[in-house]
Amino acid sequence: MRALITGITGQDGSYLAELLLAQGYHVSGTVRKNSPTSNIEHLRSQIALLETDLLDRDSVMSAVRQAAPDEVYHLAAKTFVPSSHEDPQSVIEFAERSVGNLLAALKGLTPPNPPGGPEGDRNLKFFHAASAEVFGDATESPQSESTPFHPRSPYGEAKVVGFELTKQARARDGIFAVSGILFNHESPRRGEKFVTRKITRGAAMIKLGQAKSLELGDLDARRDWGYAPEYVDAMHRMLHAESPEDFVLATGRTHSVREFCDIAFSELGLDYRDYVRVNSEFVRPPEAMQLVGNSAEAKRLLGWEAQLPFAELVKRMVNHDLALLRDSSLRSPS
Ligand code: GDP
Repeated sequence: MRALITGITGQDGSYLAELLLAQGYHVSGTVRKNSPTSNIEHLRSQIALLETDLLDRDSVMSAVRQAAPDEVYHLAAKTFVPSSHEDPQSVIEFAERSVGNLLAALKGLTPPNPPGGPEGDRNLKFFHAASAEVFGDATESPQSESTPFHPRSPYGEAKVVGFELTKQARARDGIFAVSGILFNHESPRRGEKFVTRKITRGAAMIKLGQAKSLELGDLDARRDWGYAPEYVDAMHRMLHAESPEDFVLATGRTHSVREFCDIAFSELGLDYRDYVRVNSEFVRPPEAMQLVGNSAEAKRLLGWEAQLPFAELVKRMVNHDLALLRDSSLRSPS
């Protein structure tokens, strides 16, 4: 089997590449010019990297031809929600064009859909990473596959656009094309601006005497936080389900930023109350309705369920950051 992953250098892309390689896949990934590659450094000899402009139809077609995939996982996106407010148009345009170009390339490479054929009867499969942000100011809680979309950020709007294009390709072109509506999922490879990694890195720096305090936004904000390697497993399961369907992927439980801080600092023998300060720069307006996912359908049809307990996730991340910072200060003593 052959897979093409867009966003292979990101948190999810790198875990997915590991999972597929372990299953014997040939793995290709699209990269931008000058993409940071630290997450995939250890895989470099086992994967093919294709420099691709996902906004450009010819560039996408060429990448898809070279990769000759059975499965395409579209994970590339500008994922940090606050940044999406800075240039909303480009975030939405990226979603529209990248999903559109990939689906057009797949359509071009697959035989025509037999008239009246069932949804998703072609061989080539497409996974699109959507997000809990599609629910935004949700109208109900918890959110499931039947909850109406109500995005409240350009990032959320972009994910709705990708979702709809994917759904159309399934209904109209018979492509096995699905979206995973992924709630927050974290790991030691999470970007440093996201609150979880910001906390674990900040706590580790304080422990090592490299920082004195940590500035955060709303400590009472709550999120449904899962463990990223489990979510890429769900993506793979979705492409091997009997029929193409969209799924909500979540733990079904929420925790506050404060609880996250408490566990992370305690793991290092510290009390977060001595170090964490609130800075209004990082405060966002709270959601009217809590964002928390209901993954009953994923459990029923994919046999998937989030596993790693929350405290374990926090401890893994903070211990990883501690080791990383210790290691880099040993290599470059100041
Ligand atoms: P998001 O859910 O994709 O936006 O993931 P983030 O990790 O960026 O934010 C998760 C939650 O943490 C949101 O409700 C933020 O309002 C809250 N939060 C509180 N303090 C901070 C902070 O300093 N940085 C970030 N990124 N989020 C914060």
